[in-house]
Amino acid sequence: MPAEQELIQQLTDLALSLGADKAQVIRVADISFSEEFRRLCEMNSCGLYGQCWMCPPDVGEINELMAEAQTFSRALVYQTIGRLEDSFDIEGMLAAGERHNALVEEIRRQSAAIRLAETLHLGSGGCSICPRCAKRDQQPCRFPERAVASLEAYGVNVYDLANISGMKYINGENTVTYFGAVLFNFRSE
Ligand code: SF4
Repeated sequence: MPAEQELIQQLTDLALSLGADKAQVIRVADISFSEEFRRLCEMNSCGLYGQCWMCPPDVGEINELMAEAQTFSRALVYQTIGRLEDSFDIEGMLAAGERHNALVEEIRRQSAAIRLAETLHLGSGGCSICPRCAKRDQQPCRFPERAVASLEAYGVNVYDLANISGMKYINGENTVTYFGAVLFNFRSE
């Protein structure tokens, strides 16, 4: 198996073994980006706008973040599907979100052992490393090397991302689906 294919397999296997329901490596050139996603963040339906270092506006200007993302050649895209008791199961949704965030953190930690060049980890929603983001107290980020921004903060169209990765954006009644990605470059040697 060529070295690049081997690394792709290792990364995919890692995500699946840690609990992702699906995982697929795609080309970043195929990802659809749009600055329009910043408008959605500005509407602040999640309440995190201006409340987290990894959320807008503090995470950075969207065109710069889209340009940064496009310096990577590949992306491991993964999803988790949470099962809910019914469509009002808020606790189930929160628990599924916590499981997904724990997976993002574990993939970030364990993928460091895979021989890639630089990586960019993106998750779902705001950074959840700290129970209360230091931004709320106007303090510097406590764990800048662990902090993770969302796919949307970088302008990624997650609906299209699901399609090009062979995944469903919505996985049926009484489920909630979250996405994450590891953007990466291969080492040149
Ligand atoms: S690591 Fe903590 S302080 Fe830094 S962005 Fe995440 S939640 Fe906020």
